[in-house]
Amino acid sequence: MSEKSLYLTKIQLREELKRCLNCKTQPCMTACPVSCNPREFIQYSKAEEWDEAVAAITRVNPMGQTCGLICPDKFCMKACTRSGIDFPVNIPRVQATILHNFRVDHPEKVSLPHNGHTVAIVGAGPAGLAATALLVKNGFKVTIYEGRHEIGGALCMIPENRLPHEVIERDYEFISNNDLVTLKLNAKVSHTVELLNRFDAVIVSTGEPNCLELKIPGEELSVSYTDFLYHPEDFQTNGHVAVIGGGNVAADCAATAMRNGAASVEMFVRRRISDMRISKAEYLDLVNHKIDLCGMTSPEKIEKIGNKLCLTVRRNFFDGEKWVPLENSSVSLPYFDLIIRAVGSRSDTKSDDNAKLVYAGDCKTGGSTIVEAISSGRKAAQEIIRLFEE
Ligand SMILES: Cc1cc2nc3c(=O)[nH]c(=O)nc-3n(C[C@H](O)[C@H](O)[C@H](O)COP(=O)(O)OP(=O)(O)OC[C@H]3O[C@@H](n4cnc5c(N)ncnc54)[C@H](O)[C@@H]3O)c2cc1C
Ligand code: SF4
Repeated sequence: MSEKSLYLTKIQLREELKRCLNCKTQPCMTACPVSCNPREFIQYSKAEEWDEAVAAITRVNPMGQTCGLICPDKFCMKACTRSGIDFPVNIPRVQATILHNFRVDHPEKVSLPHNGHTVAIVGAGPAGLAATALLVKNGFKVTIYEGRHEIGGALCMIPENRLPHEVIERDYEFISNNDLVTLKLNAKVSHTVELLNRFDAVIVSTGEPNCLELKIPGEELSVSYTDFLYHPEDFQTNGHVAVIGGGNVAADCAATAMRNGAASVEMFVRRRISDMRISKAEYLDLVNHKIDLCGMTSPEKIEKIGNKLCLTVRRNFFDGEKWVPLENSSVSLPYFDLIIRAVGSRSDTKSDDNAKLVYAGDCKTGGSTIVEAISSGRKAAQEIIRLFEE
């Protein structure tokens, strides 16, 4: 999919706007974790009041364009009244298109009044960036410490065809177009609590950077999804690829491997295919990419045989409550060139009990979605704002 097709054309946008019923109860807003109001920005857009439409989105969502491209359909779209008539308004795409087409290019830097307080944010993913946006609006001077060379956190692992990374930068331009934000890249923080010696408060939004282990013999012959998705070019292969895992991260690994020229990609999923935690669109994307899905299957070991990797898997069955291994069902598949593990992630954050040290995003809640991480970041910022109001 080219970048252009990520957005609606002029005609598609007009037709999609017409489909909104202007519901008084606004179920789409209630379903949005940041309480963005689609009804409001759609009504402004229908009247071609684009500045107001842009403002209605960005007032509550500082990463509105990024969200518009990757928000799952389980929030506003699932709640949309039109679902009960035909199909929901494609609210995320409408949102992304409005910001793509009608937000100014390169906003001017503004001088914001400083309230005298300073906050350090550890981690420049959506939670940290959302917290930054709200804090600077309230006069706090914010220094963001990011361990990697770029902002965006886990968003940087999303393939460019779903989320062009310049869109993350574009949202960030509007967060940082003032004199209260300082960004420090390649600045991994080892002891977050020590930042309290230099700042009035700290928000820890470090995500879940560690890929879970398979805990099987030969695990070291596989590649973690983080290593693969941050640098897919390092693992380019025209051979056979196995992906272990069945969530949307595993789906991104599979699609990326296929797009990079793999001869075949197979996904090994512990659950039933129907229980995979991916949307219908993601499922169809896998099928369209000719990715083979192998459900009710768990890995047992990986071996190197000649210049190939042999993956032994076994069949599971569902006993009505959980998946249990089926005896004598192991099969060895000796033809892989690359095996990627994508079975989940964990944080390495240990909570400290200090009112001025606030946790936000995936490191607090566990793996979530961009808009939930943004909501969590905003809540953390509100906690700090309240702390200094008292
Ligand atoms: C492949 C993939 C696909 C996804 N697809 C979607 C999708 O389609 N839709 C959706 O809604 N969500 C998706 N997600 C989930 C979404 O990206 C996350 O929920 C979200 O990024 C979490 O935000 P966060 O700010 O809490 O953490 P993160 O985004 O993980 O950011 C944490 C940041 O903290 C930095 N950091 C960590 N430790 C330190 C330290 N000690 N010092 C300094 N910096 C540190 C990290 O480098 C990172 O930049 C996807 C995730 C992945 C991995
Ligand atoms: S629920 Fe759907 S139809 Fe109703 S206001 Fe929201 S976007 Fe429009």
